[in-house]
Amino acid sequence: MKSFFILSIIALVGTCASPKYTAKIQNLKDSIKIADSSNIMTYANTITARELSILLFQFASKEFEGRKAGEAGEKKAAQFIKAYYQKEGIPSPFGTSNYSQQVPAEFLSKNYSTSENLLAFIEGSTNPEEIVIISAHMDHLGISNNGAIYYGADDDGSGTVALMEMAQAFNQAKKDGHGPKRSIVFLHFTAEEIGKRGSEYYASHPVFPLKNTLVDLNIDMIGRVDNLHKNNDNYIYLIGSDKLSKELHFISEKINNSFFKIDLDYRYNTEQEKNRYYTRSDHYNFASKDIPVIFYFNGEHEDYHQPTDTPDKINYNLLEKRTKLIFATAWQIANQEHRLEIDKKNDILN
Ligand SMILES: [Zn+2]
Repeated sequence: MKSFFILSIIALVGTCASPKYTAKIQNLKDSIKIADSSNIMTYANTITARELSILLFQFASKEFEGRKAGEAGEKKAAQFIKAYYQKEGIPSPFGTSNYSQQVPAEFLSKNYSTSENLLAFIEGSTNPEEIVIISAHMDHLGISNNGAIYYGADDDGSGTVALMEMAQAFNQAKKDGHGPKRSIVFLHFTAEEIGKRGSEYYASHPVFPLKNTLVDLNIDMIGRVDNLHKNNDNYIYLIGSDKLSKELHFISEKINNSFFKIDLDYRYNTEQEKNRYYTRSDHYNFASKDIPVIFYFNGEHEDYHQPTDTPDKINYNLLEKRTKLIFATAWQIANQEHRLEIDKKNDILN
């Protein structure tokens, strides 16, 4: 975290060479006031390792056959998610019992069947037209040629159940009279594994206008620890947070410093990075349309894209803590006084 911060100051001074600009950045940081701080942790604390684990052992089970896009297993997994939202009383954005956006077969790769993105919705109380998206992909790799199931517990069962728990937390807040000011969409994408097709379809056929879509907080693998962090698992990689909206970056940092103190690792957040993670998961289909994103990611591990990515290997306490961080970041964006702005439109910076 620190090394990135120093680098970014050098970069800012280097490119702008203006003390005025540094002052503007300070003003931007100072402008961030935590919204409704007495409630933020009350509802974050409804997200528990136990509930995440109950959901994930079901979602990454044999029954869903590796959730290959458009196949029966993925449809059963989508049904499982939908049944959860219905049981919790969390509505669809369509106001009906349909939670799906169909993604036609022609839009997917050759030999794939029509699939669907799944959406749940918590309507904002005062600025319902402004949308905060929290996303994760529900599809995975299916079954191998020799019959092994790709369970995808981390990829991206961890993100999927994180969304379900966050939706429950926001819904509880709403029931108690503390619902978010802006609307939140929980967006489960299909077909990430075959080239981010579900999110590409959404971004070209948005259910809510993109001009009022403030952010995409995208989760793809947050339940494990990679080899670089074997001795300190209190970390998560953040990618993209400062690219379009420095305000988003500072919100994310302030929420983390105030409540969680997770080591936010930015090593993959550089243009030159050879893995190019910024372009590799669903958030990129929003970033490429000028919508700020944060990509939350634990890094690759020995079970990445293997049949051995199973739910017993997830660190549930860590998954809980990371999910709470994302929840609280979304809470801030949904509840703060002013609308999150991209740098180009931010009066403080211009
Ligand atoms: Zn993934």
